[in-house]
Amino acid sequence: MVSLPAFEHTPIDKIAGIYGKVQKSYLSHKTRGLEFRLAQLRKLYWGLKDNQEAIQEACKLDLGKPSYETYITETGWCMNDIIFTCNNLAKWMKDESAPDIPLMNKALSPRIRKDPLGVVLVIGAYNFPIQLSLGPVIGAIAAGNTVVLKPSENSPNAAAVMKMILEKYVDSSCYTVINGAVPETTALLEQKWDKIFYTGNGTVGTIIAKKAAETLTPVTLELGGRNPAIITKNADPRLAARRLVWAKILNAGQVCVSQNYILIDREILPQFLEELKKTFKEFFPAGAKASPDYGRIVNNRQWTRLKKMLDDSKGKILIGGNMDEADRFLEPTVVQVDSLDDSLLADESFGPLIPILPVSNLDEAIKIANSVHDTPLGIYPFGNKKETDQVLNQTRSGGASVNDGFFHASLPTLAFGGVGTSGSGAYRGRSSFDCFTHRRSVTTTPAWIERMLAIRYPPYKGKLGQYKKMQDLKPNFDRMGRSTGGWLSWLISLGAQSKGGALIRYLLVALIAVSYKRWQAQAKI
Ligand code: NAD
Repeated sequence: MVSLPAFEHTPIDKIAGIYGKVQKSYLSHKTRGLEFRLAQLRKLYWGLKDNQEAIQEACKLDLGKPSYETYITETGWCMNDIIFTCNNLAKWMKDESAPDIPLMNKALSPRIRKDPLGVVLVIGAYNFPIQLSLGPVIGAIAAGNTVVLKPSENSPNAAAVMKMILEKYVDSSCYTVINGAVPETTALLEQKWDKIFYTGNGTVGTIIAKKAAETLTPVTLELGGRNPAIITKNADPRLAARRLVWAKILNAGQVCVSQNYILIDREILPQFLEELKKTFKEFFPAGAKASPDYGRIVNNRQWTRLKKMLDDSKGKILIGGNMDEADRFLEPTVVQVDSLDDSLLADESFGPLIPILPVSNLDEAIKIANSVHDTPLGIYPFGNKKETDQVLNQTRSGGASVNDGFFHASLPTLAFGGVGTSGSGAYRGRSSFDCFTHRRSVTTTPAWIERMLAIRYPPYKGKLGQYKKMQDLKPNFDRMGRSTGGWLSWLISLGAQSKGGALIRYLLVALIAVSYKRWQAQAKI
C-alpha cells in the first residue's frame, strides 16, 4: 500500500503571506509566456502520472471510489485535459481579430488579446476531489494566472496528495495549495482575488458571491440542482433504465449533475421497473455491497443526511434500501413517490436515491420539472425526437443529455456549467482557458489617419452633420417593428431560417438569371 501524506490545515496566520507570494509572482509577469505555461502544465501531468497510485488510494479512502472510476473521472481525466490544453494553447493564446467590425474601422486593427486575469482562488468540492480542483487549476495555469487551490476538507486524503504534487512538481511561488475548512476559506476570502472559482453547494456559493461582490471580484459558481429525468411513454424502457442507473451509481450517486428524480409516464412505469431490476442484477450480480465497483458515501454526516431523507419519504421502496453506517454504505434505492412535497424531491439528494413520480403525460412532467427547480444543472429527457425537443424548448438547465443520464457532462472538452441557481460561468476544454482569461479589446491608431480624426476634436461647430453622414446607420424597420428592407432584402432573406426556404430562394434566383439570359439572347436576335 502506498503511503499518503497527512492532511494538515494551513495555519491561518500564514495565509496572507502565501497570498502575497503568489501575487508577487503574478506581478513579476513570469506566468505570461507560452513556454512557461506549457512547462508547468507538463510538469503537472508528470506529477499526476507519477502519483497515480497515491491518488487511487486517496480516493478509495475518501469515497471508497473504485480504481476504474478514479482513473476515468480523476487521474486520467486530468492528464488528458493537460495534453489537450497543451496541444491547443498556442492557438488559444493568439490575438483574435474582432468580428463584425465595419470596414471603415479596420484601419485601427481592432483585435482581442487574451490576457490572464491575475491571481485566482479555486475552491474544490469533495465528490470528484481531483478533477473538480485540478480541472479549473489547469485552465487557470493555461490562461497565465497564478493560483491558490483550496481543496475540499471532506476528501482530506485527496487534498493532501494534491498539495504534495503541486509542491513537488510545479513552481510553488505561482501555484500553491492551502488546506483547511471554513476558517481557512474565510481567511482566503479576505484577500483580493482577480477571480474566485467555486464548486459546491448553493448556500456556500451565496457566501462566496457576497464576499466577492465587496471587492467586485468576478466569480464562477459551479453549484448543484434538482435535476429531472423525464421518461415519456414512447421511450425505450431498457435504455432508460440502464442509463439512469449508471448515472446514479457512479461515485455512489455523489454527482452534481445526476438526475435527482424521475418523472415517468404511468403507461410505461411497469416495463421501466422491470428493466431497473434487471439492470441492478446485471451491474451488481452479488449486490452493490459486495461489488468492488460501487463506492461509499463520503462521511457519516452525509450518510446520516441521506438516511434521513429516505426515512422522511412517504414513498414506497421498490428496490434496495439496505444501509450500513459503519461502512458508509447506501444501496442504490428506488422509491416510488406520489407527491411533489416528498423529502426525496424537495432537496438535492447527492446520493444513490432514485425517486420516481408517475405522471399522466409530458405536459404534466414539464410543468412539474419547472416547478421543482426552474434552473437545474441538468435535464434528461427520454422519448422520441418531438418529445425530447419539447422538453428542451420548454425548460432551462445548465446542460442536457437527450436519451441519457448526464452524458453531456462526461465529455471532457465540452463546456460545463450551470444556469440561474445551479451556477454561472462554465469551464472544461477551451472554456477552461476562457474562464480565466480577460478578452482585452485593443486598437492601434496609425499616424496617417490623423486628418480623418479631425472630426473628433473641438471646436465641434459644424461637425455633427459630417459625423452623421459618416456614422449613422439607416433603419430597415418601421415604427411597428416590421422590416422595410424592400423586395431585394425580402428575396435575400426569404426562407433564411430553413433549408427548404433557402432552396426556394436559390431556385428563384436561378430562374431570374436564366430568364434574364434568355431575354438577352432574344434581344440580340
Ligand atoms: P464540500 O463540502 O466539499 O464544500 C465545497 C467547498 O466549500 C469546500 O472546499 C469547503 O471547504 C467550502 N466551504 C464550505 N463551507 C464554507 C463556508 N462557510 N465558507 C467558505 N467556504 C466553505 O461540498 P458540498 O458543498 O457539500 O458539495 C455538494 C454540493 O456541490 C451539491 O449541491 C452538488 O450538486 C454541488 N456540486 C456541484 C458541482 C458542479 O460542478 N456544478 C460539482 C460538485 C458538487
